[in-house]
Amino acid sequence: MSERIAPRLHLVDVADSRDGFTLRDYLTRSAIPFAFSTVPPGFAGAVDGIPLRDRRLPVLIVDDEVVLEDPTPTEVAMQLGWVMPPRRRTYDLLIFGAGPAGLSAAVYAASEGLSVAVIERDAVGGQAGSSSLIENYLGFPHGISGAELADHARQQAVRFGAEFILLREGVDRTFRDHDVRAVLADGSRLTAGAAVCATGIRWRRLGLERETDFFGAGLYYGAGTSEAPACTDQDVYVVGGANSAGQAAMNLAAYAQRVTLIVRGPSLSSTMSSYLSTRVLAQPNVRVLTDTRVVGLDGDARLRRIVLDRRGTRTTRDAEHLFVCIGGDPNTRWAAHTGVHLDARGFVATGPDLTPEQRTTWPLERDPFFLETSVPGIFAAGDVRSNSIKRVASAVGEGAMAVTLAHRYLSEV
Ligand SMILES: Cc1cc2nc3c(=O)[nH]c(=O)nc-3n(C[C@H](O)[C@H](O)[C@H](O)COP(=O)(O)OP(=O)(O)OC[C@H]3O[C@@H](n4cnc5c(N)ncnc54)[C@H](O)[C@@H]3O)c2cc1C
Repeated sequence: MSERIAPRLHLVDVADSRDGFTLRDYLTRSAIPFAFSTVPPGFAGAVDGIPLRDRRLPVLIVDDEVVLEDPTPTEVAMQLGWVMPPRRRTYDLLIFGAGPAGLSAAVYAASEGLSVAVIERDAVGGQAGSSSLIENYLGFPHGISGAELADHARQQAVRFGAEFILLREGVDRTFRDHDVRAVLADGSRLTAGAAVCATGIRWRRLGLERETDFFGAGLYYGAGTSEAPACTDQDVYVVGGANSAGQAAMNLAAYAQRVTLIVRGPSLSSTMSSYLSTRVLAQPNVRVLTDTRVVGLDGDARLRRIVLDRRGTRTTRDAEHLFVCIGGDPNTRWAAHTGVHLDARGFVATGPDLTPEQRTTWPLERDPFFLETSVPGIFAAGDVRSNSIKRVASAVGEGAMAVTLAHRYLSEV
């Protein structure tokens, strides 16, 4: 995938459509501008001169001529020319995940002359792609949107020669000393001398009844960057007490009439960076409800009400927009049967965090490097790693460090 040429995109859909949300979310996280219009159900008129009678919505109109009916993100990415088969079978380094850690590893590996492919199952940017404004990353005094930061990094990696294999997932992997083999979901087989696993975390669910029914129709995971304009003059709720929830609240406050931040603990101070909690508490249209949990969801085709529990007292509130930012669980299902050991919470153990029992399978005389897993030459970087600091800067630092260690490993042959 080379540099992207921005096409003109117009997404047309009925209100409250989950498929439409999936596309808006994907395009927003991919830093692609697009127009969005809603039409009434059964709409038989035309948009941009294109008749929509009998079309399956959502419809994506590309450059006023190509019409994609109810496309998946993969079909959109294919139309935009982002989905390419791997250019080669063998690489020096395979990177799994294109969040900040994987992107950083790609930039450093490619700039140091390694042949490198980044395999990403969703959008470039990972969690950072859903951040409306990252204010604590070095070099951006006024902040930068996560999607923009990720797109700059992607371009930088591509310029150095890194290859991005998007919307594909490793469905099978074998990790042996100097012999990494991956089978991708489309059947492609790749080999490499070493790998960096930077698969990050995925949003945690509330675990409530009907949660799946309302996903994309009033209930969203993450900062909801793509949904903020739809919250204009509305009452919205954000669940969570950490930085992602604080950012979501501040971003939504620019549109919504009122934002209620629902926090399980007694205050924000222990879980949110102080610059952000100060701002949240000073924002006139943000209200913080501490010691409170969401315990019920109700509605019809979309979310209409939530049930809150505050110190044992339950109340029902009208709520049509609920953003859930309660942290995540590691994406490590891939580690099964690879010999890569995890910690008790499912994060990848590396270097000094490998327990004596986990080290019994270590085959080399030297100790594992700091970011090396229990399999030589397989490194983990960023949020997926046990005991990592969950920040963009740390993920970027670990991605760069993993490449240096991979270099050292590759020169051991
Ligand atoms: C809303 C929000 C706001 C945030 N704001 C800030 C902030 O202001 N400052 C800050 O420092 N940090 C912030 N963070 C945290 C920061 O974004 C994360 O720490 C960082 O993104 C971690 O990067 P990562 O590359 O390790 O993992 P991730 O960002 O989680 O990326 C992992 C990538 O791997 C992909 N993947 C997973 N499994 C597979 C697989 N099997 N095959 C292929 N690909 C796979 C995923 O699709 C994803 O793209 C925020 C997070 C969120 C959610």
